[in-house]
Amino acid sequence: MSGADADAVVVGSGPNGLSAAVRLARAGASVLVLEGHEQIGGGARTAQLTLPGFHHDVCSAVHPMGILSPWFRELPLEEHGLRWLRPAASVAHPLDDQPAVMLRRPVEETASALGGERDARAYRRLVEPFLRDPPGFFRDALAPFRIPRHPFRLLRFGAVGLRSAAAVAKRFGGARGRALLAGCAAHSILPLEQPLTGAVGLMFLLAGHVEPWPVAAGGSGAITSALASLLRSLGGRIQTGVQVTSLDQLPPARLYLFDTSPAQLARIAAPALPPGYLRRLHRYRYGPAAFKLDWALDGSIPWKDPACLQASTVHLGGTFEEIAAAEAAVWRGEHPERPYVLLCQQSEHDRSRAPEGKHTGWAYCHVPSGSTVDLTSIVERQIERFAPGFRDRILARRVTAPADLEAYNPSYKGGAITGGVNDLGQLFTRPVARLDPYSTPNPRIFLCSASTPPGGGVHGMCGYHAATSALLRLERFRPAPLR
Ligand SMILES: Cc1cc2nc3c(=O)[nH]c(=O)nc-3n(C[C@H](O)[C@H](O)[C@H](O)COP(=O)(O)OP(=O)(O)OC[C@H]3O[C@@H](n4cnc5c(N)ncnc54)[C@H](O)[C@@H]3O)c2cc1C
Repeated sequence: MSGADADAVVVGSGPNGLSAAVRLARAGASVLVLEGHEQIGGGARTAQLTLPGFHHDVCSAVHPMGILSPWFRELPLEEHGLRWLRPAASVAHPLDDQPAVMLRRPVEETASALGGERDARAYRRLVEPFLRDPPGFFRDALAPFRIPRHPFRLLRFGAVGLRSAAAVAKRFGGARGRALLAGCAAHSILPLEQPLTGAVGLMFLLAGHVEPWPVAAGGSGAITSALASLLRSLGGRIQTGVQVTSLDQLPPARLYLFDTSPAQLARIAAPALPPGYLRRLHRYRYGPAAFKLDWALDGSIPWKDPACLQASTVHLGGTFEEIAAAEAAVWRGEHPERPYVLLCQQSEHDRSRAPEGKHTGWAYCHVPSGSTVDLTSIVERQIERFAPGFRDRILARRVTAPADLEAYNPSYKGGAITGGVNDLGQLFTRPVARLDPYSTPNPRIFLCSASTPPGGGVHGMCGYHAATSALLRLERFRPAPLR
C-alpha cells in the first residue's frame, strides 16, 4: 500500500464508502479508499457469473432509492457513465388465476387495477398525500433522525408507517391491494406484523410513482464505477486488494471512515475504541440472510401473465397472508416451503446484459441467518407456479448461499444483506444510540456503511451523512494524523 498522507482514509468501496469519499473530496479533502477485493463496488458490482456474455448483478439489481437519492441526484454521475434504464412498470405481483397486480408510475393506473372502486380509493388515499413534493419527501425520508424540513408531512408518514404492513393492509378489502403492499413491505426482511413494515411498503410504493424502479445500463457496477470515476477526477485515490484487519495496516490520516459492519469496525479498531462502545457494536443485530440465484436463460421468463415482463421487479409469493407467513417462518428459524421471492429481469430492460435472444434472471429469498439449506428447487418451484416452463429456459445457474455472501463481503454477517435489522430498536439508532450515529467515541473514527441511518440500499446517503459529520470534525478541530 503506498502511504502518502491523506486527510481521510475510507475502508471499503461500496456505494457508501465511495459516496463518503466523493463528499470529502468535493470539500477539498485528500482521500484514499482501501478496498479488500480486487474490484471496487461492494454491493453494486456486475460480473459474468454463469456463461460468457451474461452480465449478472453480484448483489443489488434494482435501484428505486438510487434514482431518488438526493445525493446521487446532486452528482454528475451521467458524465461518469451512469445511465438509469426505466422499465414500463416497477413491480409485477402475479397472483394465481388472475392478472398480475402492477405498480405503474401513474397512481390512477395502479389504483384502478386493484379490483374495485373501494380499494382504488383506499390506495389513492394511502399514497397521494406524500406525492406533492417527492424530492423533499425523499430528502427527509433518507436523512438521519432529525428535525425534518417538512415536519407535518413526515409526521403524517410516521402515522401510517410506524404501523405494521398487516395493519396498513386492512385498508384494502380485496387481495390485490394487500398483495401489492406485502411484496413491497417484505423488502424490510421483517415479519409483516412488526411496526415500521408499513413505512417500508409505503416508501417503495411511493418510489414507483415518482420514478419506475430502474436498472443501471450495463449493470449495477456502473453506479459504483461512476462514483469511483468522479472520485478520481476530484483527486481521490483507490487501492484494491487491501483487506484491512488492523489499524496498523492503515496509512497516516486525520480521519478514518469504515464502510463495514459494526462487528468489523469493532474487530479492526478495538485498540482505539472504549470497551463499552465495543460491547454495543458487538450486540448489533444483523437479521435473516438471503439465498440468491442467478440464471442464464434461453429466452424471456414465460410468465402466465405476460404483463410481468414490463416490470424490472417481480414479487413472488402470492397473497398477503402467504407472504406474511413465509417471512414469519424465516424469523422463527424455518425455511418456508413457499418463500417470498424477489426476482429481477434486468435484461428485459437492458439488452447489453445477455447475448441476442437470451436473458438473465436474478432472484433471492429470505432464509434464517447462516442457513446451509439449498433452496434452489424451492425458489424455482415458486417461479414455475407463475411462469410454467421457466426451468426449461435455464442454460446455467449460479447459487449464492449465505456463507458465499459472507465470504464475498465479511459485512454480510451470516448472509444478511441490508446492513442490519431495520426494526424500531435499530433503524434510527444504528449502529448504537448516539446523537451523531456516524461518529464513534474516538474523534478520528467514523462508520459510513449501511449499518448507519438511513440503512440498506444503494443510495449513498449513509456515506454522505457520515462524511458530512467527518467534515465538521476536520474543519473545527483539524486533528493531527492518528499515527
Ligand atoms: C444479494 C443482495 C441483493 C441486494 N439487492 C439490492 C437491490 O436490488 N437494490 C438495492 O438498493 N440494494 C440492494 N442490496 C443492498 C445493497 O447492496 C447494500 O445495502 C449496499 O451495497 C450497502 O452499501 P455499503 O457501501 O454500505 O456496503 P457494501 O456495498 O457492502 O460495500 C462495502 C465494501 O467494503 C469492502 N470491505 C469490507 N470490509 C473490508 C475490510 N476489512 N477491508 C477492506 N475492504 C472491506 C467490501 O469488500 C465492499 O466492497 C442487496 C444486497 C445484496 C447482498
